[in-house]
Amino acid sequence: MPTEEEIAFPSLSDSDLAIFRRRGHPRTVRAGDILFTAGDRNFCFYIVVEGAVAIVEHSSGEERLVRMHGPRDFTGDVDMLSGRRALITARVDQDGSLLELSTDELRSTIDEHPELTEKVVKAFLMRRTLLLSRGFEGAKIIGSRFSPDAHRLRDFATRNAIPFRFIDLDSDEHADAILKQLGVGPSQTPIVIGRNGEWRTNPSIAQFAECAGLTYSLDAEHVYDLVVVGAGPAGLAASVYGASEGLDVLTLEALAAGGQAGTSARIDNYLGFPTGISGKDLTQKALIQAQRFGARVTVPCEVKSLGIDGGERIVTLMDGTRIRTRCVLVASGVEYRGLDVPRYSEFENAGIYYAATEMEARLCKGEEVVVVGGGNSAGQAIVHLARQARHVHVLVRDSDLGAKMSRYLVDQVMGLENVTVSCGAVVTKLGGDTHLEAVHHSKDGEEKQINTSSLFVFIGAKANSTWLRGCVDLDSKGFVLTGMMLPPQTSAAERWRSAGRYPYLLETSLPGVFAAGDVRSGSVKRVASAVGEGSMSVSFVHAYIAKPA
Ligand SMILES: Cc1cc2nc3c(=O)[nH]c(=O)nc-3n(C[C@H](O)[C@H](O)[C@H](O)COP(=O)(O)OP(=O)(O)OC[C@H]3O[C@@H](n4cnc5c(N)ncnc54)[C@H](O)[C@@H]3O)c2cc1C
Repeated sequence: MPTEEEIAFPSLSDSDLAIFRRRGHPRTVRAGDILFTAGDRNFCFYIVVEGAVAIVEHSSGEERLVRMHGPRDFTGDVDMLSGRRALITARVDQDGSLLELSTDELRSTIDEHPELTEKVVKAFLMRRTLLLSRGFEGAKIIGSRFSPDAHRLRDFATRNAIPFRFIDLDSDEHADAILKQLGVGPSQTPIVIGRNGEWRTNPSIAQFAECAGLTYSLDAEHVYDLVVVGAGPAGLAASVYGASEGLDVLTLEALAAGGQAGTSARIDNYLGFPTGISGKDLTQKALIQAQRFGARVTVPCEVKSLGIDGGERIVTLMDGTRIRTRCVLVASGVEYRGLDVPRYSEFENAGIYYAATEMEARLCKGEEVVVVGGGNSAGQAIVHLARQARHVHVLVRDSDLGAKMSRYLVDQVMGLENVTVSCGAVVTKLGGDTHLEAVHHSKDGEEKQINTSSLFVFIGAKANSTWLRGCVDLDSKGFVLTGMMLPPQTSAAERWRSAGRYPYLLETSLPGVFAAGDVRSGSVKRVASAVGEGSMSVSFVHAYIAKPA
């Protein structure tokens, strides 16, 4: 088994070098030359032929050597594929010569040579893991764990793999000193301090994303083959298949690639992973895969509406940017429902959570927590939280935990000593001052109170389809109708008659606009089916582009 170090820093063989030489440009360099600097975007890939290149980082304020690359070594990490800003600087340490390839040249080379994809992409992924585990300090977020704004920023950073450190106002001894140094009071938190020491009080997600190097500028004149709205499993699958089959794909994501699946602590029923896989791992890899094939995935980028202009579909973003495309895939999934109890919105993100990722689990280490819901998402959350929390109280409205939860999860939950399940229980009231402190519920006519600062709610979801209203046909619950599910009068309408065909299986009432995954009416709400539909939609996109309606 190769070590982590060997995976991260492999040496290229003679035959690897010969392949890279076909597209690479020789470059003579002198000690001190800078190849790229932290903060740069679209930097090149370099192979050292002679001499040495130092990779350094300055996140703690001091320079730290990450790696000295010698002959046959190559530079780069995942940011080469994602298009995000570099976290590190590459400086020539000894005079010599290099081979230089642009990102597109690198993509074409590794696409043609799968053995190089394995070497290069694995190295990029492992380099990022090692960088983070060896003291790279990203942004600092200072705030209270009970502040909804601090939670919003932490959640965004965690789900988008932005390196950061959370400094809790209530428990971290450094918090006070940092606030004094900046000359601000606790009421002005959360504060984000960027890598270069620049800071902002309570930034919006867009400002935070900009400072973390996530945002791209989009060309309003460009016409894409396919715009995918939503980067959950359905959208990511379409991005991978579309880009790998030569389509010009842009994927727009409001919050974080991965969607609901990205918040799942463990997915046990996805084909090919006999021991399960964390939703974050699965979807982060899918994201890299889509980017490796050349799909552009932009975050945060919320779509406001959809329209038509002649033969083109127009996707309008919240900031007013209009994007032109031949086809659209609606993969905007669903969002979680909340409880209908007084003061609920006061505690959203101030003690109420809709996901139980590592971040939330760590926050309630050693504490009592409440989980509401009896489906599979609740089951996974219970198992995950029970590892960190002192006790997990589960409140289920049905009279039996097995009514909606898969048997394997019921068995796991029932086997946990620090979990109590109350069936037939309904939340009636929430208590607390600035953050959640108590959950009241009734069971068999008796009122009970659980003192807790963490309530996890998993009670189903509603379709993210408001941006489509008036544009494509929806069912009575707001899910998108496609193919055979469209009403006969829609499929018989003039636009279809003149196209000489009926809507394709995943096509909406608007030709060239497809829907896949949880947002689609009648879909099976599973990762595998979302992935299947997302990939299948690409064949309809090809058919539509070959013969537009
Ligand atoms: C906690 C949890 C655990 C789960 N565990 C499992 C499991 O073990 N096995 C299983 O098979 N399934 C599981 N599921 C269900 C599974 O995750 C979903 O079926 C799957 O994620 C659906 O994928 P999707 O791409 O259709 O939608 P989503 O995953 O909902 O993704 C939709 C994406 O679209 C984005 N979006 C929404 N509106 C807009 C807009 N206007 N503009 C731009 N972007 C937008 C959202 O931010 C989101 O990222 C779980 C779900 C949850 C919540």
